Amino acid sequence: MQFVSTRGQAAPVGLSAALSAGLAADGGLYLPAHWPQFEAAAFADETRLPAIAQQLLAPLFAGDALAAALPEICAQALDIEAPLRVLPTANSWMLELFHGPTAAFKDFAARFLAACLLRIAPASERRALHILVATSGDTGAAVGAAFAGQPGVRVWILYPDGRVSPRQAHQLGAFGDTVTALRVQGNFDDCQALVKRALNDDALTRRLRLSSANSISLGRLLPQMSYYAQAGLAHWRTHQRLLGFIVPTGNLGNALAALLARRMGLPIGAIVLASNANATLSDYFAGADYTPRAGIATLANAMDVGAPSNFERLRALYGSDAELRAELRAERVDDDQIRHAIRHSHARHGVVVCPHTACAMVALERLREAGDGRDYAVVATAHPAKFDSVLAPLIDAVPAPPAALAALLQQPSHSEPLANDYAAFSARINACPL
Ligand SMILES: *Cc1c(COP(=O)(O)O)cnc(C)c1O
Repeated sequence: MQFVSTRGQAAPVGLSAALSAGLAADGGLYLPAHWPQFEAAAFADETRLPAIAQQLLAPLFAGDALAAALPEICAQALDIEAPLRVLPTANSWMLELFHGPTAAFKDFAARFLAACLLRIAPASERRALHILVATSGDTGAAVGAAFAGQPGVRVWILYPDGRVSPRQAHQLGAFGDTVTALRVQGNFDDCQALVKRALNDDALTRRLRLSSANSISLGRLLPQMSYYAQAGLAHWRTHQRLLGFIVPTGNLGNALAALLARRMGLPIGAIVLASNANATLSDYFAGADYTPRAGIATLANAMDVGAPSNFERLRALYGSDAELRAELRAERVDDDQIRHAIRHSHARHGVVVCPHTACAMVALERLREAGDGRDYAVVATAHPAKFDSVLAPLIDAVPAPPAALAALLQQPSHSEPLANDYAAFSARINACPL
């Protein structure tokens, strides 16, 4: 498979090149040149995530040096449970994506990307690989966990100081020597801008081998299709109906993966974006011009994004705004509604949700009120224990952290302050040995 830029001004490249590059040469984002088509029956009775991912991704890996390693990559990286649980209201489910090592859905993608990048380096390459990652809370931890302790790899995590939950902050600084956490005096978009500038800095990239692990990375987008395929197939086999998904959304990586899986023929119904108070997407889907803006801080901090980086991909998939608006809807949920949903989900349904998942619960309620009785799964993107500081004042039943998260929280944690200043950032990475 060849991969083409959303801007159409760069030559198509193979998978390994697209995975390593991050951005295309024209500044665009990579998408497959065409969409392989599957029918549900092609997966027979397969229910295991690594096996489904392997089959789904095989045509995208075809012709690349990584193709032979795909089974091993899926087996290693995607060995994470993604249970689909029934919710106590009619035709409603929850897809739990928080059973990986850092208790958020980012683990699937970060582990897959790591498994790919670690296999791409040419044997002659002796320099360390520097992975740059801007995070609004969860990506940094997932990437840190995926690469920690790998010989020849350094990870730089940039996160907005004071805008991640205390447990997220602890986690980001707890991976040890090969993973440096930089707390930036700015917001998530500032962190993302610093990373983007470093990747485009010729002087720096001549000296250091750089790669990124942000949500624009093709290597994160592709594996995320697999849990939608798994859940959609399971639902289809049992009910012969399409399962829709309500996806807590920030940079649009997770929701885009659902859309792409549907485009490849998987049995997936309506896709609904649930945003926090950041209104860029809800305004656009309500008919306004697309207007990226500064991110504002909310209780669902991993979605504090004012300029969703995958919007460019979304737009490239459709001929016009009208066509795109017909495919998706977006619900904006403010902090008071998040608090209400956390309390209400617990009291009424006995389900404890993180603040991001709470946005999707609110969106589900709005759909039901509007008379939409179709089958939906709320996508649970993080374990509620990661956000105990938000939940504790609202409910008296905050669950204990899962074992892997608990182990990280026991480790000492260290982060370095960084001004929101590119010169300071490049000097810091440059000071690192090759
Ligand atoms: C990253 C994240 C999101 C948003 O996902 P995108 O792919 O950026 O849209 C939602 N919830 C949680 C818990 C996250 O960590």
